[in-house]
Amino acid sequence: MDALPPNFWDKRRCFLPPPDDINHAVEHLTLAAKAHDQADYEAAAHQIKCADIQVLEDWRYLISGPSNQKIHRIRPATDIPPLLPKNNRLKARMPLANAQSKLIQKYGYHCTYCDVPLIDLKTFKRMKKKYPNAARWGSINTEKHHALKAMSLTFDHVIPHSRGGNNDIENLVISCQTCNCGKGNSTLEELGLFDPRNKERAPSQWNGLVDRFK
Ligand SMILES: [Zn+2]
Repeated sequence: MDALPPNFWDKRRCFLPPPDDINHAVEHLTLAAKAHDQADYEAAAHQIKCADIQVLEDWRYLISGPSNQKIHRIRPATDIPPLLPKNNRLKARMPLANAQSKLIQKYGYHCTYCDVPLIDLKTFKRMKKKYPNAARWGSINTEKHHALKAMSLTFDHVIPHSRGGNNDIENLVISCQTCNCGKGNSTLEELGLFDPRNKERAPSQWNGLVDRFK
C-alpha cells in the first residue's frame, strides 16, 4: 500500500480544490448567457460546448467516484450517530422550497466546501430546454456536460440524512454535487473537514446565472 500523504491528518476545507479550469467554464457559461440575451443562439450554444471540460470530470471522479483513502481520508472519530435503516430515516430527503431559498440567501451560489460556483436546477432546466443539443444531458455521469455536472447546486446535510440528520436550516449547507457525494454517509469529523457553516465567505459576483436563459 502506498504511504499516506504527509498532510493526511490535517483538517481541511474540502477534499480537493477544484482545478483552475472551473474559471474557464464560468467564463464560457457567462458568455453563453450574454449571447443568449442578444438572441445569438448559435454563439451561446458554442460557448456552452466550450465549457464541457474533461479535467472537471477527472476532478469530480476522484472525489465522488470509488472510495479513495488519499482523498477521503476516513479516520477514527467519536460520537458518530449510527447509520439508520432506510425506513427509519426522515421521509423528506430535501428541504422545502422556502428553506432552499433561505439557504441560497445565506450561502450564495458557491459550494460551502470547495467554493465551486454553482447553478441551480431551475436554470439547468431552462438551459436544457433552450439548448438540448449544445450540452450533453445524459442520465449517467459520462454522458453529462462536465462543467454543468461539477456546478450542480445541491443541499448537503451536515449530519448525514442517513445518520438521522434532519432538514433544519442549521443542518443544511449549499454544496456542489461532487463534495456532497464524496461526503456520503460520513461525518465531518470522520473526514477531517472543517465545519462549512463557520467558513468566512469571500464576496463574489457569481449569482448562478439565476433568471438567465429565458
Ligand atoms: Zn464542492
